[in-house]
Amino acid sequence: MGIYLDHAATTYTDERVLEAMLPYFRNEFGNTSSVHGFGRDAGAGIVKARQQTAEAIGASPGEVYFTGGGTESDNWAIKGAAEEAGSGHIITSAVEHRAVLDTCKYLETKGFDVTCLTVGEDGMVSAQSVADAIREDTILVTIMFANNETGTIMPMKEIGEVTKKHGVLFHTDAVQAVGHVPIDVNELGIDLLSMSAHKFYGPKGVGALYVRDGVKIAKLIHGGSHEKGMRSGTLNSAGIVGLGTAIALAVEEIAPQAAHEAALVQRLKQGLLSMPDTRVNGHETSRLPGNINVSFDGIEAEALLLHLDLNGIAVSAGSACSSGSNKPSYVLQEMGLTIEQARAAVRITVGRENTEQEIDTAIETIKEVVSNLRAISPLYQNKQAKSEE
Ligand code: PLP
Repeated sequence: MGIYLDHAATTYTDERVLEAMLPYFRNEFGNTSSVHGFGRDAGAGIVKARQQTAEAIGASPGEVYFTGGGTESDNWAIKGAAEEAGSGHIITSAVEHRAVLDTCKYLETKGFDVTCLTVGEDGMVSAQSVADAIREDTILVTIMFANNETGTIMPMKEIGEVTKKHGVLFHTDAVQAVGHVPIDVNELGIDLLSMSAHKFYGPKGVGALYVRDGVKIAKLIHGGSHEKGMRSGTLNSAGIVGLGTAIALAVEEIAPQAAHEAALVQRLKQGLLSMPDTRVNGHETSRLPGNINVSFDGIEAEALLLHLDLNGIAVSAGSACSSGSNKPSYVLQEMGLTIEQARAAVRITVGRENTEQEIDTAIETIKEVVSNLRAISPLYQNKQAKSEE
C-alpha cells in the first residue's frame, strides 16, 4: 500500500464502523418497514444511528433524514426548498461543489433566479455579500461549510445571522466539514445541512440531510412511507448504521484528530514552502485541519500527480470529481488564480492514520518531482531567465 493523502476525496471505512455494520448484512437483515421481529431488530439500528447523527450536529433525531450521500442531500435540500416555494430567488457561491452548482443551474431552467456570489482571494464568501444579495423574493441561501478544494471554512455563524434576520432558509453543504470540525446547527442558524458518511470514515453511498423542525421542503423521491414519506425506498440499514457509528466516533475523537491532522499539514506546509515559487491557496486560519492546497509555479499538477502515483503517493488536483478532466479548477480561478496557477495546484488531504514519516516521504518526493518537472518546463525556465535579467 502506498501513502494515501486524498482523504477529501474519500476515506477508508473505519474497522469499528465495519464491525458495527456487518450484523446488518446477516442476522439483522430485516426490512425496517416490516412489523415482525426481524424488521424491528433492523429498525433499532436505524433509531440509534438517527440519534447519533442528530447528536453530532446538535439536532433532534426527528430532524435527520437518511439519503444516498452528499449529492443527493444537496439536490434534495435545494430542489425541495425551491419546489416548496414555487418560485423565487436563490443565493449560492461560485465555489460550491457541482452537486450544488448544477442543481442551481437546473433550477434556473425552471424559472428560478440564482445569484452566484464571488469569493475573496482567500476563497471565503463574505456574510456581507450574502446580506447584499438578499431580495424580497429570496427563498434560499446555499453556501458550503468548507470548500472541498481549498479547505476554507465559510463564516457560517455570520451567514446564519443574515438569513435568520431576513427569514430566508439557510442550507449548507457540510460534506467536507462534518466529523472534522464541531458543528451545532442551532448555534449557526442552519436550516438544512448535507453530509456524507464516506468523508468521515463511514461507508460510501449513504448520507443524511438535516431538516430543521418546521422547515418544509418537497420530497425528492416518491414511492413509499420511508423517512416519514419524504425519501422513499427500503432503508440501507447497514450503511445507515455505518454512518451513525462513524459520525459518533468522529465527533468523539474530533479534537485529537484535528490536532494530529493540523500538525501533519503544518509539516507539509513548511517542507513544501521551502521550495521557491510555491504558494498555499485558501484561507490562512479559517480552514479544515487536514487540507492543504498548494500551487507549484511552472508545473502541470496532472503530471505531478502521475509521478507521485508511480511513487505510491495519492494526492489530487482540484476535487476528485474534476480530477482527470484536465480542466483547471474553477474554484481556484474564482479566487483570482490565473489558469496557469490553477493548473499548477494540488490538493493534499491528510487523515487519521497518516504518520510524520509518510509526510516526510511525501515532501521529499514532491520536491524531487517538482524540480524535475520545472527543469523541463519551458514556461518555468523562461520565467527564471526573465527574473535573472
Ligand atoms: N459536496 C462536497 C463539498 C463534496 O466534497 C462532495 C464529495 O466530494 C459532495 C458534495 C458529494 O458527496 P457524495 O460523494 O456523497 O455524493
